Amino acid sequence: MRAFTYDALPGRVVFGVGRAAGLPDEVQRLEASRVLIVTDPMTKPKAEELAEHLGGRFAAVFSDVQQHVPIEAVQQARDVAARSGADCVVTVGGGSTTGFGKVIALQTGIPTIAIPTTYAGSEMTPIYGITSDGHKRTDRDLKVLPRTVIYDPALTVSLPPSVTGPSGMNALAHCVEAVYARDANPITSLMAEEGIRALVRGIAGSVRDPADLDARSEALYGAYLAGAALAVVGMALHHRVCHVLGGTYGLGHGEVNSVILPHAVRFNQGAVPEAMDRVARAMGVEDAATGLFDFAVSIGSPTSLAALGMREDHLEEAARLAAEPPPWNPRPVEASDVLVLLRDAHEGRRPIRGATVPTGS
Ligand code: NAD
Repeated sequence: MRAFTYDALPGRVVFGVGRAAGLPDEVQRLEASRVLIVTDPMTKPKAEELAEHLGGRFAAVFSDVQQHVPIEAVQQARDVAARSGADCVVTVGGGSTTGFGKVIALQTGIPTIAIPTTYAGSEMTPIYGITSDGHKRTDRDLKVLPRTVIYDPALTVSLPPSVTGPSGMNALAHCVEAVYARDANPITSLMAEEGIRALVRGIAGSVRDPADLDARSEALYGAYLAGAALAVVGMALHHRVCHVLGGTYGLGHGEVNSVILPHAVRFNQGAVPEAMDRVARAMGVEDAATGLFDFAVSIGSPTSLAALGMREDHLEEAARLAAEPPPWNPRPVEASDVLVLLRDAHEGRRPIRGATVPTGS
């Protein structure tokens, strides 16, 4: 067996239908007595229900979470934390909400408990993002890692298929890029492959019947594994392209993941054929790239950048931004190759073997 290094991260995970009701016990474990709840307008009603369980430990709620964690909005949340004397932050919501909790933890040292309600996986990672002067920068710091994560599938039944699908594709992307990551190890590969299996079954079932708690549980379990893998290995071209399309052109995070993943996989196929076979096996398909494209179609998740509103005359600039400086990737990245990939993705072409993406280097 190949030698490897695995930096496992700390953190407690509580998983199961109804487990969010145990929040007061988790707060008690942290010996906290003043809880600030951070949530977004959509998930606020659920967060308020949880706040009722906290009784005298509930201090305040901040519900003005915005996408991409603008620094001004985080400052407001910090002010609420300070005024209420909070000694614990509980986030209830998707990746944007978790992101707010992370930056509050970074800047104040207050411990957080994350209760995720989408499949973004941010709750497992020490990665945070913050936007100032229109520019989002990301970094890693163990201080932002939630001390406890409560996964309660019952909180995800309200996710409509239009969010479930793209959010699930985002989680699949973490798993896929973890399988061929430069610093992959046998443990992260196990998590990633099991994550792919669970996500494919769970997301398909959750889109078919949003109230199916078995499917929701599988999907959330897969998202947990995806986040745990993302937390400890580096990502590659797929994530760079999505970061550019989201950050520079304002396209939705889950949606661009859904469109780009099959094309990024086709791009890398020749460089890491064994990893792609593992992805395909975990999905139960012959070929990873077309399997991912067909899966996106089957769950009604986007497959075309044009349909997301991306202008064709922006593709060249986007390819340049994604390739400079080149990200680490199993196959070397040139702007001209990324442009071909983006054109295919723009048109929503099914990435069949030997199609327009050049075999390159
Ligand atoms: P999001 O948090 O913005 O949520 C998407 C939408 O779903 C929002 O409108 C929200 O109100 C709604 N929603 C959330 N939970 C719901 C529920 N249970 N029922 C109904 N609606 C619900 O988006 P996201 O896709 O969860 O997260 C994306 C963000 O997370 C991006 O900013 C991305 O960069 C970040 N992210 C960070 C990491 C990391 O490791 N730091 C990892 C993955 C994603």
